[in-house]
Amino acid sequence: MNRQQVMHIGLDDTDSTKGGCTTYLAALLVEELEKFHVEFTDYPDLIRLNPNVPWKTRGNGALCLRFRYDIQYKEEIKDLALTLWEENSAIKEKGTDPGIVFFEKEKIPEEMKIFAKKTETSIVKLKEAMALIKKFGAEASGFNSCRGIIGALAAIGEPLKFDHTYELIAYRASQNWGSRRKVDEASIFEMDKLTQPHTFNNVDYEKHRVIITPRGPDPILFGVRGESPETVKKAFRIIKPLESVQRWVIFRSNQGTDAHLRSVEALGKIENYSSVIAKGVVSQNPRIVPLRHVIFSIRDSTVEVDCAAYEPTGNLRKIVRKLIVGDSIEVYGAVHKPTQSKPLTINLEKINILNLASKTVIENPLCPNCGKRLKSMGKNQGLRCEKCGAKYGDLTKKESALPRTLNVGLYVTSTRSQRHLTKPLRRYGLEKHHYESKPQIESWHSAFV
Ligand SMILES: [Zn+2]
Repeated sequence: MNRQQVMHIGLDDTDSTKGGCTTYLAALLVEELEKFHVEFTDYPDLIRLNPNVPWKTRGNGALCLRFRYDIQYKEEIKDLALTLWEENSAIKEKGTDPGIVFFEKEKIPEEMKIFAKKTETSIVKLKEAMALIKKFGAEASGFNSCRGIIGALAAIGEPLKFDHTYELIAYRASQNWGSRRKVDEASIFEMDKLTQPHTFNNVDYEKHRVIITPRGPDPILFGVRGESPETVKKAFRIIKPLESVQRWVIFRSNQGTDAHLRSVEALGKIENYSSVIAKGVVSQNPRIVPLRHVIFSIRDSTVEVDCAAYEPTGNLRKIVRKLIVGDSIEVYGAVHKPTQSKPLTINLEKINILNLASKTVIENPLCPNCGKRLKSMGKNQGLRCEKCGAKYGDLTKKESALPRTLNVGLYVTSTRSQRHLTKPLRRYGLEKHHYESKPQIESWHSAFV
């Protein structure tokens, strides 16, 4: 077998709200490609793109398969990929804009990497993707608006050379799709205990709820996220599914790495639909708005913006309620553009409290005689004690410091409301700073059909 030829296949947006999943298409494609004895040069890459794209309501994940193969199968492999892609795309669903891209060079051009980064953090036009596809001799196909081509190309252009994680996704037998998922919940809590901190976002301890099982009609039974292929496989062995697992695959991913966040130098430089890390000083105290959301304002020397902690952010919302004017903070979150009634708003995913302002209150002193808080007898009339009757002409109101019930440090939205890309607290200190390509572990995917 002469496996000299390199191919990258990017896939995006094949699923709809009614079902399907692009990772499932990738899983099927992996199995079919093995019939051509391809040599995968990486795990399938699951690349989450900017979660803040206005026309996206779902997870916004794109896939890339990278492999070497025998050139005699070139056309057969492309035909196979195109056929599977068409069969597994919800072409008829509004808002589903499937895309597929083939790229056949070993080295990913720098411009494609920059394009991928941009797609993870901001808004990218199809025109830009098509220009790169033409320039570097890639091939692309799409349905409907063809927007999926953007994600498909971005997945190819993201080699995950820095921080990355893994996810083992287990799929359900097709006859169970759409029905309630059956997995032994206690085994998931057990798995979390036995594998932490090397797996993450398995359960939400605040609500004592399992979060690795999705709710929709898609074919996923559950997905375990972690730091290495070995860890997610170990975790998989601990979980007890109560319905049959049809197939499973380990993906390499930018999930849980904060890849969507970009630091901005000033609040005035924030772009709509981006996700940012920005510093400011609290300029308006938190207020609770209907539906129990908490809103406050921050400013720097450029502008003032609003920050919102929505109800599902759980503990984060309780923390931000304690902020006061003057607190110095760093906020992390998705930017919502200003409307007529609301200024530009950052939806908080995290907050780093850098410095707390002192909180003071001006009040009457305590009675030196009995310790009761003194009462004022009127303007310039001095103070009087209601308990012992003593009068003090010379005592006046004074300022005293109140304790702050908040500490400096990093706070993250509750597990259940974390985005795919949000780096959870558990991952701090476990970040990877480089990636060396090496063979996959033995048995990184399997099918029982
Ligand atoms: Zn008194």
